[in-house]
Amino acid sequence: MVNWTRDFFICLSNSKFLNKSAQKWGFRFGAEKFVAGTDIGSVTRTIKEMNARGISCTVDNLGEFVSEKTEAESAKRQILNMLDKIREEKLDCHVSVKLTQLGLDISREFCIQNMLEILARAEHYGIFINVDMEDYAHFQATIDVLKILLQNYGNVGTVIQAYLRCAEDVMDELKDIRLRIVKGAYKESEAVAFQTKAEIDRNYLKLAKKRLLGDAYTSIATHDHNIIRALEDFIRENNISHEKFEFQMLYGFRQEMQYELAEKYHFTTYMPFGNDWFGYYMRRLAERPQNINLIVKDVFYTKDHKLKKEPLLTGALAVSLLLLWRKSGKKK
Ligand SMILES: Cc1cc2nc3c(=O)[nH]c(=O)nc-3n(C[C@H](O)[C@H](O)[C@H](O)COP(=O)(O)OP(=O)(O)OC[C@H]3O[C@@H](n4cnc5c(N)ncnc54)[C@H](O)[C@@H]3O)c2cc1C
Repeated sequence: MVNWTRDFFICLSNSKFLNKSAQKWGFRFGAEKFVAGTDIGSVTRTIKEMNARGISCTVDNLGEFVSEKTEAESAKRQILNMLDKIREEKLDCHVSVKLTQLGLDISREFCIQNMLEILARAEHYGIFINVDMEDYAHFQATIDVLKILLQNYGNVGTVIQAYLRCAEDVMDELKDIRLRIVKGAYKESEAVAFQTKAEIDRNYLKLAKKRLLGDAYTSIATHDHNIIRALEDFIRENNISHEKFEFQMLYGFRQEMQYELAEKYHFTTYMPFGNDWFGYYMRRLAERPQNINLIVKDVFYTKDHKLKKEPLLTGALAVSLLLLWRKSGKKK
């Protein structure tokens, strides 16, 4: 059941048609629980609330797999505006970006130019930029671009996905820069990625422990309480300085645990915002199908918990998508 729903939501997250359509719908299907607003103003308010509780943020102006130069340029401008806002409002916040949003699929040179502009302004303000890691099809290009950026700037780092078989080698190669360790959010083949939770968890712990014993700063990004508890023991037993790492979680996930960890360690919440919420939200549903109840509520009930008058239309849309997906799966 879990793999079935996971594949379904990942398939939806990759649909260009649905991603484009969702930008016109406004938040639907309960997405507002995991996306901190549609514009800079609303995300700034949420960041201030988190900062007041001792939580730092990394803000992600949602968007990915951009194929038009104008779209990538507009994304760059929004990121530059966000940097200005962080500086102006003295927010405790850095920025996460996706290279496909900044034109990686259009031209590598164009993407590098966009990133250099972002890094120049961020460096001027003393803000760190994290390059999120996307699907494996973009993995090598992301690492190659990162290495070029590192020749000019020190305020940039990236993400290591523990499900990748090559994760440890890449992590070792990047041992001197700030890295975030995650399990990995995309559907990848057995040739390149571990498939079982046990294998992925084992690799995650191995990588995180290795990083914690090294010198560079590490973000331990997971909601997995077993991994967190195991790493807390490791940190205590090895007397690891709290200045060398932080825990990170996504906005809207395990809020109480976020507050609890922030009492003891540096803690950062990943704060996505913007109209391009669909792909991000579908990947979150893939990871945690229990959240499907948010969709059911949105489709059938009004905000004051009354049954909607025309739930059948949206329900029919959901069923059609499901059937379409199953049909396309059978063709492969
Ligand atoms: C800050 C951050 C940044 C990320 N950046 C990237 C990136 O750049 N690239 C990328 O590919 N992926 C990224 N991810 C996503 C990541 O790869 C995983 O897909 C995602 O975090 C789910 O894995 P998990 O480690 O949380 O554990 P899971 O394996 O999803 O969960 C483990 C266990 O934890 C418990 N649990 C998890 N969530 C909850 C919950 N909400 N409530 C109660 N119990 C729960 C359950 O018992 C579950 O079985 C990021 C994740 C975070 C937190």
